[in-house]
Amino acid sequence: MRIDDQAPARGGPFERPPHRMGSGYAVTWPSTPLGGASPRAARPRTGAVCSALLAAGLLAGCAPEHELPLPPVVWEGTSVRVRMDDPGIQVCGGSFEALDRHAELVREALLLRGDEVVEYSIGDQEFVDERCDLDTSAPCTKSTTGDVFTSMPMHEHELVHAVRILDPELALRSSSFEEGLATMFGGDRFDDEVPSVDPSILLLEEPLDGTLAYYSAGQALAHLLARHGADAFRSFDTLASTMDEGDAFEAAFGESKEQFVAAISGSPHCEQSRWWAPLLECDGAPVTADPTTGGLVLSGSLACGAADVRGPRFGRMWTSRHFRLDEWTSMLSYEFDMPEDALLEIVACEGGCPERFAYIGTRDQVGSIDDGVPALEPGKCFLRMSRPVSQGDASFELVMHR
Ligand SMILES: [Zn+2]
Repeated sequence: MRIDDQAPARGGPFERPPHRMGSGYAVTWPSTPLGGASPRAARPRTGAVCSALLAAGLLAGCAPEHELPLPPVVWEGTSVRVRMDDPGIQVCGGSFEALDRHAELVREALLLRGDEVVEYSIGDQEFVDERCDLDTSAPCTKSTTGDVFTSMPMHEHELVHAVRILDPELALRSSSFEEGLATMFGGDRFDDEVPSVDPSILLLEEPLDGTLAYYSAGQALAHLLARHGADAFRSFDTLASTMDEGDAFEAAFGESKEQFVAAISGSPHCEQSRWWAPLLECDGAPVTADPTTGGLVLSGSLACGAADVRGPRFGRMWTSRHFRLDEWTSMLSYEFDMPEDALLEIVACEGGCPERFAYIGTRDQVGSIDDGVPALEPGKCFLRMSRPVSQGDASFELVMHR
């Protein structure tokens, strides 16, 4: 599925530059469950069948893509081992460390078990297509091994699938849950939009198809985790690995899937920036205001080679700063400098749709009287600066005063 048919970007400070998300992010679903009795749809594809055969040690007769060796290791962290088929693919300076940390943070957030290292292989589209064997060109994560194949150096969505697959106590949930989690915890898009979401997507048993379905599942999972918490979700996850998913849902959450869907059906719609989980962006000690001057300074360089710049993904690179405000800032008193083609985002770390604060603006908007950075209330937020991969002046600075 392409997203050529997406809604036009909104005007005002939330307007974002257009770009395309790849056609879906996928787990390659096995033709038979990995374990338990949870309903799981089969993909009628040779590769999918072979994934199941590989799991059973029955390699004979499989399509050749599953016999292809993994490419050479180029970087190794605690949780992720990066391999590259083509070392010429551009990688921004902080991408691999961020991948590694992201895998750890997802494991923490979802109370996952297992510490097996994710094999993360980067190659061109042909390399990915050969290994993923999907209906469309898309990155994938193998449901049997957790191996990720992608053309992107920084692709958090597939990592969410991978660490879940590598949890020895879990079998995969149905597609709407797995893709919902990967969408919620797997980074957001830079072309924010406000699609109408449909939580009844959680009742589907077949694989999700289309961007809107991923959004719906992502926001529904955000509601589910906000409503019941990570501990209850872990109970559901483990119960559903040995029993029917619907029964496990009711046992863990005290309501049926249908009751939950009905309960959140009237919820307001929000762009993804207000319901995804910014794990990396809100990680680590926050920057705070200088106690003498009261000014809070966030600065850096948005050059691909910088050690904390991530990407590219869909042609854009980005960096972020976690900060904490102890007092209200003044909407009339801030200074900023940013590259002409950059986008500035300030988003609260906590809270969900619709109360989570999010401001998104281009340089012109940030500098305008009408659309500039509003007064910010005390709390933890992150600043993210992103721009298309390019040369040119890359420095940025935002100074906020009380
Ligand atoms: Zn996915």
